[in-house]
Amino acid sequence: MSDRDGLIWYDGKMVAWRDATTHVLTHTLHYGMGVFEGVRAYKTAEGTAIFRLQEHTDRLFRSAHILGMKLPFDKETLKAAQLAAVRENNLESAYLRPMAFYGSEAMGISAKNLSTHVIVAAWTWGAYMGAEALEKGIRVKTSSFARHHVNITMCKAKANGNYMNSILAHQEAVQDGYQEALLLDVDGFVAEGSGENVFIVRNGKLYTPDLTSALEGITRDTIVQLAGEIGLQVVEKRITRDEVYSADEAFFTGTAAEVTPIRELDNRMIGTGERGPVTTQLQKMYFDCVTGKAPKHADWLSYI
Ligand code: PMP
Repeated sequence: MSDRDGLIWYDGKMVAWRDATTHVLTHTLHYGMGVFEGVRAYKTAEGTAIFRLQEHTDRLFRSAHILGMKLPFDKETLKAAQLAAVRENNLESAYLRPMAFYGSEAMGISAKNLSTHVIVAAWTWGAYMGAEALEKGIRVKTSSFARHHVNITMCKAKANGNYMNSILAHQEAVQDGYQEALLLDVDGFVAEGSGENVFIVRNGKLYTPDLTSALEGITRDTIVQLAGEIGLQVVEKRITRDEVYSADEAFFTGTAAEVTPIRELDNRMIGTGERGPVTTQLQKMYFDCVTGKAPKHADWLSYI
């Protein structure tokens, strides 16, 4: 990924993609103490727009606050940086990766006297699990890796180090022939996917795990709001894996994964094994919002 044309916003300046480097003794590389976001921009009839830029920027700052990391830029600057990263790379649609990390002034757990750096990269990234996944759904396996305990890593922070757990779970699922992992919390209740929140549909109601050990997903919030608009009741509660087995429908939500139907969990077909009617409706509403076809939610779009 490093060898390509383009520009990356790096500490306030646009830097040539290949020159956006950092030293091997960068603290965050060693200990994972950094925060990041995953954001998407979509092509709309009025031009390219970033979806829920404010909320992603707010979460980046919350993540940094949770880790006790002081960001050297304010929100307005980082919002402008994200818009510029899409615009200056001439991208019609994009995935954006803002990240804040510590510099290489010192090693060690004290993490003192370190500079903090911020980058925003943007590139074209299509459907995270392929176009077919959005239409037909994916096969998922309950992970042997538990999701973080709330007092081990900070689950509300989108922190670099948290993703070792996600990668272990995802790799295990893929190596075993599935497309994604479903992680349970330390008490054995459903938490989330490796990079997605999860929903199930049963008897016309939508259920999603409470946020104890799951990331506060912005797509999750979008789906909860859209469900409310079509009179679908949303219940946040502890969910067991066998509730997912016997759900009528299930789907993942995430900026990268968008709204991805789950057709199987642990080799049990969910519902009819196809994208169900509720998932289909919410997925369409979601894509209408991100592509500027939902006037009611025009305020979720920031045009570049
Ligand atoms: N959970 C985890 C662990 C994630 O990495 C993500 C992706 N950021 C999500 C949930 C979904 O969050 P969002 O909808 O804000 O992308």
